[in-house]
Amino acid sequence: MEKVLKKKALGAFLKKLASFGQVYGPVKTDTVRFEPVSHEKQLCLDEHAWFPVKEFLFPQKQVFFRFDGEKIITEDNVKKAVLFGLRKCDLNAFLINDKLFLEGEHKDLFYEQRRNNLLLVGLYCYHELDEFCFCSSMNLQDYHDIMLYDRGSYYQVKAGTPKGEFFIAHLKDTEAFVPPPTTCSLALPTQEIAHLFEHQAWKEGADSCTSCGHCTNLCPTCLCFTISDDVALDGKGERVAEWDSCQYKEFTEVAGGHVFREKRVDRFKHRIYHKIQYFRERFDMSMCTGCGRCIRGCPEKIHWIHLIGKMTQ
Ligand code: SF4
Ligand code: SF4
Repeated sequence: MEKVLKKKALGAFLKKLASFGQVYGPVKTDTVRFEPVSHEKQLCLDEHAWFPVKEFLFPQKQVFFRFDGEKIITEDNVKKAVLFGLRKCDLNAFLINDKLFLEGEHKDLFYEQRRNNLLLVGLYCYHELDEFCFCSSMNLQDYHDIMLYDRGSYYQVKAGTPKGEFFIAHLKDTEAFVPPPTTCSLALPTQEIAHLFEHQAWKEGADSCTSCGHCTNLCPTCLCFTISDDVALDGKGERVAEWDSCQYKEFTEVAGGHVFREKRVDRFKHRIYHKIQYFRERFDMSMCTGCGRCIRGCPEKIHWIHLIGKMTQ
């Protein structure tokens, strides 16, 4: 059953959600980012969050366990949280990350623990939020606990999971609403780029790239990490996982010093091929959700969608 949430009742709804855990939503400070929210007036609901919410699944630095010289100590300090106002691109990043870390034979228990402690509340986009969004060409799916659709003085509210249903059960019922598909002016011309691998235009993008790794840090589906043991002389220490990036030369360095993607153009191409070609060949869906952050946040403003457009003209 679909529900109605009057906009003037949004504050009360946030309070209801807070019974699950701390509510985080898009807040505008120097930029828009997900911050703790206790009042609806703190929310910025008409701009794209600059940072993705992947830190709720994979903190930049995560301690897997500590050791005291004799035994291993694990800590369970993951807190429950509500992520309010997620856009469909970021909700689809959960779909992709869940596929990688929760399905198949190698489930990631650290990921699972954090994921189970999240309640995902979306806000539907009828149009792009800015000129870097291109989600409407990425075949996104519905993937949320709760989704809100702005209908003027109220939100139409739908649940996508039993967890979501619980938190909207008290709202008034209403008739079903079929939202129009999201429209974006920017579109990825094609996800099939295998035949473009040797195209000279890749060099154009790579020549401006500084391998800073900003694009991978900002991408909601880039979860590559490196593991190290930080051990003191007394044998005490911790095993930590920290974000890594395929844009760094050392990323593919192996014992003996060989680097598999020595050239910048190979690293530049790899990110894009991984997102829209290799992942799709394996899972039948793109690993890119069209959030546009890797272009929006690139210090060189390298526009790989335009680059592919040029190659496919
Ligand atoms: S953010 Fe831009 S400059 Fe930095 S690695 Fe990515 S594409 Fe290159
Ligand atoms: S590749 Fe770029 S547009 Fe696609 S999900 Fe990652 S940051 Fe967003």
